[in-house]
Amino acid sequence: MTTTDNIDPAEIEKFNSLAHRWWDPDGDFKPLHDINPVRLAYIQARTDLSDGEVIDIGCGGGILTESMARLGAAVTGADMAEKALSVARLHAHESSVVVTYETATAERMASTRPGCFNTVTCLEMLEHVSDYPATVQACADLAAAGGNLFFSTINRNPKAYLLLVLGAEYIMNILPRGTHDYAKFIRPSELCRAIRAAGLEVCEVKGLSYNPFTRNGSIGEDVDVNYLVHARKPNDTHPS
Ligand code: SAH
Repeated sequence: MTTTDNIDPAEIEKFNSLAHRWWDPDGDFKPLHDINPVRLAYIQARTDLSDGEVIDIGCGGGILTESMARLGAAVTGADMAEKALSVARLHAHESSVVVTYETATAERMASTRPGCFNTVTCLEMLEHVSDYPATVQACADLAAAGGNLFFSTINRNPKAYLLLVLGAEYIMNILPRGTHDYAKFIRPSELCRAIRAAGLEVCEVKGLSYNPFTRNGSIGEDVDVNYLVHARKPNDTHPS
């Protein structure tokens, strides 16, 4: 890592130290397992996962990555937490699912494979980097013209703080303490501004809600806490 990398080393260390917990459906990443079916269905309804290549930025242990590969996608997962990637590789191998995993930031992937991916996913990751607009720009660079991009993160307001930091981490213990840093939460308007500044079109912003009692995720209009953005890279326009 160099000081110019868009990486928060404390964040990477946190995810490395939790690496062995990724695939325990009742463990530290339980909410990600529980919301995965609805976010996967959302993505699948808006992009053709079997058309071209897919990249999952900040893939962690590969919960979403592997689920897209199971649907026939040719997926690369990129993350900077080496131990999370070791777990991801092992799990894919044991499950006979083909996924390519690389230790890389979005920026590094964009410098080697710009314009190569018809689908780019970057879920629950932007709130862990030091410069999220730079990550959004790198995702835009990775996308092919006409490609679909999906971002999800956490809104910054008192409700999100109460539910996600106090509620989930400190009262209900459904997330490890210290998982989230409130100051890094991103308002939908801020994320949409970064998405447009990267040359992308915002297609839709939807809320992603999680009920810890029923363990169900759902997609709707309430963007107060967790939310998803579908964006598209414009088709190449050729001056006449
Ligand atoms: N996207 C996955 C995992 C989210 S957890 C899912 O939704 O299931 C956030 C992940 O982002 C962690 O695995 C962490 O290591 C990774 N991450 C944080 N900063 C990163 C960076 N600068 N480059 C790549 N990955 C990063």
